[in-house]
Amino acid sequence: MQFIQLLQENTTVALVVFALLGLCVGSFLNVVIHRMPLMMILSWRQECSQFMAEQADMPREHTQPLFNTVATDTPITLSRPASCCPHCAHKIKWYENIPVISWLVLRGRCSDCKATISIRYPLIELVTALLSALIIHQFGVSATGLSALVLVWTLIALTGIDFDTQLLPDRLTFPLAGLGLAVNSQGWFVSPTQSIWGLLLGFLALWVVVKVFYLITKKHGMGQGDFKLLAVLGAWLGPMMLPLIILLSSLLGSIVGLILMKQHGESRPFAFGPYIAIAGVVALLYGADIISWYLGMYTY
Ligand SMILES: [Zn+2]
Repeated sequence: MQFIQLLQENTTVALVVFALLGLCVGSFLNVVIHRMPLMMILSWRQECSQFMAEQADMPREHTQPLFNTVATDTPITLSRPASCCPHCAHKIKWYENIPVISWLVLRGRCSDCKATISIRYPLIELVTALLSALIIHQFGVSATGLSALVLVWTLIALTGIDFDTQLLPDRLTFPLAGLGLAVNSQGWFVSPTQSIWGLLLGFLALWVVVKVFYLITKKHGMGQGDFKLLAVLGAWLGPMMLPLIILLSSLLGSIVGLILMKQHGESRPFAFGPYIAIAGVVALLYGADIISWYLGMYTY
């Protein structure tokens, strides 16, 4: 209790403590980004194999290969198996797993086989630390501040997963939407009514855009996950922030999309989720300022 009081009274100490906490959380988010898609693929394979087993008329030569691979799958959870180098399977020791510092000391290489470790790991840790400090600076050490941290941390995980796999797992978006409704039942960010409308309109806004886009071009421009992610942000920040989030994410997405298209050609699959998530973080931190600045331009 005394520690919380110290954090609430001394902003500098609070920012340092939450930046350090952010580094450790960022290290955990790296694991989530890497493992959650693998966990999903494993469970889909198990479901497929179960489904096929229940189809009595399915020929055995079609089902057997799937059963064989499912039988040899090693179970993966967020904590097991222990982290190891993907190149040489060297078990990563605790002192090789200190956020940012270990990467710098090892100069971005595995201590055993010297294969390069992506700079993305320390970057995600640093971004998580920076955003955690910004959230505490904006909302203080309060229930609102702590819940905003959970939102931002989950958005970082979703960004990484969508960037790698073009998936936005329901097992992250659904609980996050529920949490948004729960915190706003207390009116922490917006009123309960605004939260419910935010959830509905967030989903509908992109759904309508995608349906119209499909009717005109016969192409699927966006995944279901993107609607759900915008619905999550609607539930947390209310319907008033949705136009800002859509505008910012489209702007960011088009700029990055154009750069990628120039570099790799049109064939590269494009994830839109990261831009919705980044726009969501901007709206959480500075949305009210941006909107009042914008509206202020029209007041004489
Ligand atoms: Zn190695």
